[in-house]
Amino acid sequence: MTTNLRRRSNSAMRTALPPTPLRLVCPWVVAAALALVGLQAASAAETRNVLVLYANSRLLPANIKLDHGLRETIRTSADRPVALFDEFLDVPRFGGQAYARTVTTYLRDKYATRPPAVIVVGNQEALSFVLENRAALFPEVPVVFMSAPKSFLRSIPALPADVFGVPIKYDISSTIDQALRWHPRARRLVFVTGTGVWDRGWEGWLQAEVPGFKDRATVEFLAGMPTAALLKRLGELGGDSVVFTPGYFKDGDGRNFTPRESAEAMASAATAPVYGPFDTFIGSGIVGGRMPNYAAMGRQAGEIVNALLDGAAPAALRLPEIMPTTLNVDWRQVRRWGIDETAIPGDAIVHFREPGLWEEHHNELIAGAIVFLLQAALIAWLLFERRHRRLAEQANQKQRFELAHASRLAVVGELTGSIAHEINQPLGAILSNADAAELMLESAADRRGELREILADIRRDDLRASEVIRRLRLLLTRHEAERQAFDLNDVVIEMATLLRSEVQRRGMSLDIQTAPTSATLVGDRIQVQQVLINLVLNAMDAVADLPENRRTILVSVSSRADAIAIAVSDRGHGIAPEYLPQIFDSFFTTKPQGMGLGLSIARTIVEAHGGRLHAENPPGGGALFRIEWPATDAKAKSSAETE
Ligand code: ADP
Repeated sequence: MTTNLRRRSNSAMRTALPPTPLRLVCPWVVAAALALVGLQAASAAETRNVLVLYANSRLLPANIKLDHGLRETIRTSADRPVALFDEFLDVPRFGGQAYARTVTTYLRDKYATRPPAVIVVGNQEALSFVLENRAALFPEVPVVFMSAPKSFLRSIPALPADVFGVPIKYDISSTIDQALRWHPRARRLVFVTGTGVWDRGWEGWLQAEVPGFKDRATVEFLAGMPTAALLKRLGELGGDSVVFTPGYFKDGDGRNFTPRESAEAMASAATAPVYGPFDTFIGSGIVGGRMPNYAAMGRQAGEIVNALLDGAAPAALRLPEIMPTTLNVDWRQVRRWGIDETAIPGDAIVHFREPGLWEEHHNELIAGAIVFLLQAALIAWLLFERRHRRLAEQANQKQRFELAHASRLAVVGELTGSIAHEINQPLGAILSNADAAELMLESAADRRGELREILADIRRDDLRASEVIRRLRLLLTRHEAERQAFDLNDVVIEMATLLRSEVQRRGMSLDIQTAPTSATLVGDRIQVQQVLINLVLNAMDAVADLPENRRTILVSVSSRADAIAIAVSDRGHGIAPEYLPQIFDSFFTTKPQGMGLGLSIARTIVEAHGGRLHAENPPGGGALFRIEWPATDAKAKSSAETE
């Protein structure tokens, strides 16, 4: 409170300072004034001392845990500074009236200049010491106890009102009860104690528990034995026994131990499971037990100290009746003694349980599962996409097939006149040959030689007519795309034969130049022929208006080491440069009756065969359409998927 007031006046001073120029002139005056005020504030917050008295040595595990709980709870601040002082009576190694007097004098003199505001005692012996020597040892100072059993407190005739705390109760019977349930074969209950004062006290408490278990097991007391003999006996027990021990400070030979040290030795020597009352034993090799928690006792006492230092009256504090106990169990011992895991109550604290894969790596496992799911989702999506694309491609192919077929029908329609002429010609020849033969038969002369020639002509003409029909049928029928090797030279010759009459009808000339070697392509021969017919018919359209000497079209096949190609060139007006980029688009046409599909279908077919089709206006005039397939992998690249 004083500090706060001073601080307030401190800040008030700062705000009341003269304006900037003066502050600049004498900053050191301001600093000195502030320092002075600060010093006064610090000396005003008086340090409150807390004396913590433990009975045993500094390193007793219980003391360490109590002290830890106490120190983490007691609040200290600039406003309410607290100093903790630990003292250790070092029983049972030291004791007796004279020792008590010496320690009392020592403590009173030592803390005369720093009198405690509260005394905390670490267990029942420390409490006894304070109660017995209180008159000489800060009699007015309240005493807070930790780790004092309720039964012990009850045995004190009149506990002063300013000596208080939360008592503990060692739940011996529950621990033994639990042990007998976990080890159903156990028929013998073995209690081990030592020879110190504390040890004897425990022996008394354990004796008091015996009647409760008499009908369930025979009870054996190993009290005050020399450690060596004790460990030997424990080694002989076997699986039908259960051991309970609080450990001991002094054995039958008068050797000193901490209870935990003795418990550890017992647990490693015993051929039966060992149980105990202190949570400080966990990890020493004992199975466990129902225990109060030492750190919690320290924290509880810390809370009480805080309240007292804050000015609360002891009588006003609402304290729990008793410190709670919890069942503690060492997982490694559960395994060692074959305890049924399902028989461990859910509220038990299980120590040293190796974390399962999930507990130890659950972050990694969750991350892995997420990655796995994402991957699975991605794969599913890709599969779906692939299937989707396949279906789309199939539909696309079907459409291309239909379109190519329709385009062939259109071409044949365009050629009807010349085809009729192609067929009529041999039919007419056959008829006149037949007439001539008839006349010869009517004459008496033997003209068998001539008749044979006539018959040969008839056969040839018939074959010619039927060849035209065969080729037509091939163009017209809807056939599945094929994948066969064929020579481009043959295709060009065949195309020229089919178009011969049309070329003649239009008064044009179609020159073909085949390659000196074969130019083999693998794919659908009819489709490639269709491409050529389209290109030549376009060329015929392009030269239609020209004088007869310029109505020439050249189709040439070339076969190089790296490529095979067909070029269709004419001497027409060429392709207008602005149209060049569009002529392969569907429905692009410059002709009044055109459909604009021929070139787009042609390019699709060529590309489906792994080739390229492009157009240009060569320097000499006219248009040049060039189809090229790589020679080396022409076979590999060509495909039957063209339609
Ligand atoms: P269509 O012949 O029905 O017009 P195409 O796809 O076969 O459809 O041709 C598209 C266009 O390309 C033609 O309208 C024409 O303008 C141009 N074209 C094609 N071949 C030639 C050629 N040899 N010379 C000049 N232009 C041509």
